[in-house]
Amino acid sequence: MSGLAIQKLNKTYGPVNALSDISLKVENGQFVCLLGPSGCGKSTLLRIIAGLETASTGKIILDDRDITEVPAHLRDFGMVFQSLALFPHLSVGENIAYPLRIRGVSKDVQKSEVERLLKLVHLPGVADRAINQLSGGQRQRIAIARALALKPKLFLLDEPMSALDAKLREAMQVELKRLQQELGITTFLVTHDQREAMTTADVVVVMSGGVIQQVAPPLEIYRNPANAFVADFIGVANLIEGHVEAPGKVIVPGGTVSIGNAPAYGKITFSVRPEDLEIRTQPSESSVAGKVAFTRHLGSAIEVNVAVEGQPRDIIVSLPSRQESSLTVGQSVYVHVPASACVVLR
Ligand code: ADP
Repeated sequence: MSGLAIQKLNKTYGPVNALSDISLKVENGQFVCLLGPSGCGKSTLLRIIAGLETASTGKIILDDRDITEVPAHLRDFGMVFQSLALFPHLSVGENIAYPLRIRGVSKDVQKSEVERLLKLVHLPGVADRAINQLSGGQRQRIAIARALALKPKLFLLDEPMSALDAKLREAMQVELKRLQQELGITTFLVTHDQREAMTTADVVVVMSGGVIQQVAPPLEIYRNPANAFVADFIGVANLIEGHVEAPGKVIVPGGTVSIGNAPAYGKITFSVRPEDLEIRTQPSESSVAGKVAFTRHLGSAIEVNVAVEGQPRDIIVSLPSRQESSLTVGQSVYVHVPASACVVLR
């Protein structure tokens, strides 16, 4: 198989299971985000792929070749870390040319490669500047250019944008995605920011506690979370418990909800996104009665918390902000739950 295959990888640090039975196949040219909360094992997995860390057990196969034992400097992968790790005493051009220089590439080729890479990251003409004359976003691009100097087979990024402010981070995410598409280079990005994963990834690998929870394209992860952890971690989700009373009819605190794909009987938990819910003044065949607890304007949407007796958490409903809302706190309402919007969780 061409591409990267990770097979039954385990990593322990003393008593800590940092990674448990990780298997994953990635086709060449894909942008993969390793997503999960702090401590879930993302960086460990990336560092094992890079060869900076050795797995306790398991294999890494690249284009049918077992690279598990190949040392990092012979893998020739491009890496960008959160710290960027640029050399402050070298110029921009010298930084980018560094991996070429230590491999004995001629001065002329180094110079033309630096020019090509600076163009690629939209910073032509800064080769002679000192690193400390650049802004945070510009340094980021230089670190990316340096990582790409060896035309690596894999491009590995460990939270490289987490130090940037929100606006710049979003701009860099778009830029990174564009660059990756242009080069068609297989890329792994570690992030704990689900928005970043949604913006950049072809495939999101959601991790928790050293275990892969789901592997799927961003929209699939959002629309069809595999379990309660994924539903809750990605965006805002209402997780509601209920009891199947009749085929497709689920009794929940505050009402009855119709769910097409519910099992035949028993206790279930389902997830429903705030933007799929409606607020009505009359009950429907699938609704939950509650009281408005509070509302807040988010610019593009109005978020309404509805408190429902017997539900451990408020149900959150997101209404388009153009839809003028005259809801008042304490008002009795019915949250209409469309059957097609509910995802039954494992
Ligand atoms: P993430 O990148 O998702 O924040 P890490 O891969 O850094 O998570 O860490 C996963 C787990 O392994 C954590 O429990 C962390 O404390 C532990 N860990 C990581 N590196 C080491 C190490 N060098 N020594 C001991 N424990 C480590």
